Amino acid sequence: MSTARQRIAILGGGPSALTAAYHLTSDERLRERYDITLYQMGWRLGGKGRSGRGRDGRIEEHGLHILFGFYQNFFALIRDCYDELKRPAGHPLATWRKAFHPHSFGVVEDWFQGRWHHWPIEFPGNEATPGGDAALNGSWDYVTLVLHTVVEALAGWRTERGLGDRLFPRERWEGTPDEAPTSAGRPDAGVFRALRLLRAALKLAGKTRQTLERHAPTVLGLVRQARRLVVESLHRRSQESVRAFRYFAYVDFWSTVFIGMMADRLYEPGALHALDEYDLREWLARHGALEDTLQSAFVRTIYGAAFSYERGDPRQQRVAAGTALRALFRMGFTYKGAAYYKMRSGMGDTVFAPLYLVLKQRGVKFEFFHKVESLHLTPGKDAIDSVRLTRQVELKNPDKEYEPLVLVEDLECWPAEPRWEQVRGAEQVKGHDLESYYTPWKGVGSVTLKAGEDFDQVLLATPVGCIPFLCEELLAHSQRWRDMVEHVKSVQTLSLQLWLGKELGELGWDMPPPLLSLYVDPMNTWADMSQVLHTEPWPEHHRPRSVQYFTGPQEGPDRPPPASDHGFPARETEKAKQEVLTFLRNHLTALLPGAVDRHLPPHFDWNLLVDPEGRQGEARLEAQYWRSNCDPAERCTLALPGATKYRMKAGDTGYSNLFITGDWIDNGLYVACMEGAVQGGILAARALSGVRFPLIGEDMGWDGPAPAATARVIPLEAPRREEARPGRKVG
Ligand SMILES: Cc1cc2nc3c(=O)[nH]c(=O)nc-3n(C[C@H](O)[C@H](O)[C@H](O)COP(=O)(O)OP(=O)(O)OC[C@H]3O[C@@H](n4cnc5c(N)ncnc54)[C@H](O)[C@@H]3O)c2cc1C
Repeated sequence: MSTARQRIAILGGGPSALTAAYHLTSDERLRERYDITLYQMGWRLGGKGRSGRGRDGRIEEHGLHILFGFYQNFFALIRDCYDELKRPAGHPLATWRKAFHPHSFGVVEDWFQGRWHHWPIEFPGNEATPGGDAALNGSWDYVTLVLHTVVEALAGWRTERGLGDRLFPRERWEGTPDEAPTSAGRPDAGVFRALRLLRAALKLAGKTRQTLERHAPTVLGLVRQARRLVVESLHRRSQESVRAFRYFAYVDFWSTVFIGMMADRLYEPGALHALDEYDLREWLARHGALEDTLQSAFVRTIYGAAFSYERGDPRQQRVAAGTALRALFRMGFTYKGAAYYKMRSGMGDTVFAPLYLVLKQRGVKFEFFHKVESLHLTPGKDAIDSVRLTRQVELKNPDKEYEPLVLVEDLECWPAEPRWEQVRGAEQVKGHDLESYYTPWKGVGSVTLKAGEDFDQVLLATPVGCIPFLCEELLAHSQRWRDMVEHVKSVQTLSLQLWLGKELGELGWDMPPPLLSLYVDPMNTWADMSQVLHTEPWPEHHRPRSVQYFTGPQEGPDRPPPASDHGFPARETEKAKQEVLTFLRNHLTALLPGAVDRHLPPHFDWNLLVDPEGRQGEARLEAQYWRSNCDPAERCTLALPGATKYRMKAGDTGYSNLFITGDWIDNGLYVACMEGAVQGGILAARALSGVRFPLIGEDMGWDGPAPAATARVIPLEAPRREEARPGRKVG
């Protein structure tokens, strides 16, 4: 039996690779069919979601990671994985429910009249379970949901019920003079008329696709009129208070989305892909959104959520419109249980250790410390002939696979450094970063995998930023590969973790623990992650009382420099440190007023940083964790306008034995996130095996990967006359 098994070499061990391996080994028949070996540089799995246990067993993450309640494919995978693990009841993360904590509270930061204002948003929970079978909404459902959102938003203004109530809970503004809905809370006749028009539109739209389709021109006309009235009534008054401003922008945003969806017939198959030719703000402007709306907190947050700053430059915000809308709809309308889930430990511990353990059990082989250097083509240039790798270290026992996990408080975790006790000559390797393309460490030898001898099929699962380094021959040979690499770009990011001697409330935060966006660049996203502290075994006298994570895009080169630039990571890390210092010196205390130094207000109290070595002042930063994710393997994939059509499908690489996976392929979501990576993994497993593993959502026409030929072209015409209004920027 074993000689007939197909040998699959997986290059890279991020979430997409692990998902593909998971499906390809999901039953006995498949396990008999495939012999899988995964090659991973360095000592751990997880890619951009990896984490490690550092000093005192603390969790050090590649970046702040939050899971969204709309990640149906991700949760289906992880639930199945925990079921198969069958951990004993007393295990710290015995079940997926123990590992993932529902979270419903978000905060958006509004810059209004010279200062920041919190916009708290409570997403109501529901009874559904993420990863369940129920289908996502189809495109027509989204059209109706958007129309409902417009009506609810406007009605909420008046009645403070419905969505308006959730967006502006009474207790949040009562007693805060600048946010009280005084004059802005008394809408004039124009708003009432707009509401009547919208309700008429809703009634005409009816409950079925057929009724909405039949009345589409009338419904569109009514919403256009309603929005005109809203602008006339509310735009001037939107300057009265931040609440009025965000309210206006929110209604303008959603009514514009509805108008755009109807005018561009976005409910048709392939339409969102066609819309990806344009930037979101460009498309909104074309359908009449005001400049104030385009610059509002809500829209800034959409850009910030996916690090959509080209070169990390906040002045270069660009995101493909169709991709942004799909993600927004799925996030807002399809979440199950809760809008977000926070992990109860490091992402490595909650996601990648369980996946590793199950895959090991199923017989997948892991070759850690194997860095892929190059893929080579056959003389006919129609398949991969060989793969060259560097063996980064020698194991003391070469007959045994490296054992990567350590136990921390009874939990299987990835260490922040290799387990040196298993490495021969460890002293020489220590100090070299085995996860970096820029390390001068040449390794201890090279390995060449040959087609037909060592593998039958290759699954390339490294990030898109690595392809120019690994696939020179493919790029020289194939225009399609060159186009993909030129258009599907990535961005450098940075991240920061602060262990503090005060709890969140003592730090001056008087709301529930937030997921907050989009504050000062570059550290624009913040989450209190104190829920993981119980798994960090700090000595009692240094035990932090909270831990705060920040992340954002970092300004840097459009393309990473060549691997010979060994000093690049150190330069970018120093840049990140200066950015962290600027943030702590100038901006943190505006968020957390309780972190002010009593003797030097409004400056940050550096003594709050937990430092077991007892340094003084700013030097205490040395005991925290920050990083620049500048390596080609660490850069975050962007969803730029015009790029979607260059993404390749998992099984259509132009080379018969080469398959691809990742958040950068044509995976149907196109936003860099765990769900996109998992969808990419499922599609790769399908392409490799011909087995139609379930991909939740694809049957809805809108959410699957791009149809083979996307015939739709959406022209970006001049705006209609009635929409040409002062203050609006036409893209
Ligand atoms: C700072 C930051 C924060 C994020 N936050 C979130 C979030 O909150 N929620 C969310 O859902 N998503 C988030 N993401 C996105 C998410 O992490 C990625 O979309 C996901 O990890 C992509 O998975 P992947 O399998 O495509 O690639 P990767 O995760 O990049 O995995 C690729 C693998 O290939 C390996 N590799 C690379 N080169 C080589 C080589 N030469 N040889 C051998 N192995 C190699 C890498 O080491 C890695 O293991 C975030 C990303 C970043 C950068």
